[in-house]
Amino acid sequence: MKCRVCRGPAVIDLRRHNANFCPEHFLDFTRKQVEKAIDEFDMFGPDDRLLVAVSGGKDSLAIWDLLLDLGYAADGLYIGLGIGDYSDDSGRHTRAFAESRQATLIEIDLRDEHGFDIPTAATVTRRVPCSSCGLSKRHLFDRAAVEGGYDAVVTGHNLDDEAAVLYGNVLTWQADYLGRQRPVLPEANGFPRKVKPLVRLTEREMAAYCVIRGIEYQIDECPMALGNKHIAYKEALNLIEEQSPGSKFTFYHGFLARAAERFDGASGDDDSTPVGLGTCERCGRPSSNDVCAFCALSERVSGHDPVPVELVRNKR
Ligand code: SF4
Ligand SMILES: [Zn+2]
Ligand SMILES: [Zn+2]
Repeated sequence: MKCRVCRGPAVIDLRRHNANFCPEHFLDFTRKQVEKAIDEFDMFGPDDRLLVAVSGGKDSLAIWDLLLDLGYAADGLYIGLGIGDYSDDSGRHTRAFAESRQATLIEIDLRDEHGFDIPTAATVTRRVPCSSCGLSKRHLFDRAAVEGGYDAVVTGHNLDDEAAVLYGNVLTWQADYLGRQRPVLPEANGFPRKVKPLVRLTEREMAAYCVIRGIEYQIDECPMALGNKHIAYKEALNLIEEQSPGSKFTFYHGFLARAAERFDGASGDDDSTPVGLGTCERCGRPSSNDVCAFCALSERVSGHDPVPVELVRNKR
């Protein structure tokens, strides 16, 4: 197996590109894919300040590394979710990476700063953990970005993630979600711009990137993700990709190029629609109620004794 560029020994084969690469030219390839996504979707400019939502997994550490490497001013934000050993390990990997690159890492610990963690929130609300987790992450990332004067929040969603979400939304024809499924969500109504520069790269490519760059990351799945439908959607798409390399890319990027605009406005909150948002009386963030969903969750859950992660997992 030879590198397409230098004919030296290749370490990865990319069937959808009909190409093999040596480590050096694979890194070139990933950088070019990220630059292409930033450019194609007009994500941000060279002077913008970026806040990377870092989980300690391969994708968020890789995009942080790539942005720093490309010369962007990119700080990281890590939220301690209190999901047992999984969170402890994720935090360790994130801190080690930030230190090795001398990058700025902002940390927020849900339990220390807001009095609850995700297993406890899931138990008290009797809802799936991802519901209070997603709500908390969105709120804290938005707030940190706006208060810190950042121009955009960067997330590590890759092609596999986006194709799986699209697949799920198409299976159930969720027109409102399809109307929002873009690699860039513009700044609006007090919410920061959100961008996904990894939409041209797959999960396997990001794992290879981290290995070649020597980035240690959280390998385990979150224990709360059990039963998550997106894992099944990813497996289904992988079967199709195996038979027909490039299908995932065509599915997602074909949607963006040829179908996404048909769903514009389906969510009812596009830019042109004035949203009569007030502000949360607790935190001052935009909210359609007196108290925003995050502050309401925090008030409801924060007095409870911590629930160990194992109890939540066993119940599901
Ligand atoms: S799988 Fe769910 S609970 Fe775990 S980190 Fe992701 S959103 Fe949070
Ligand atoms: Zn090469
Ligand atoms: Zn609030």
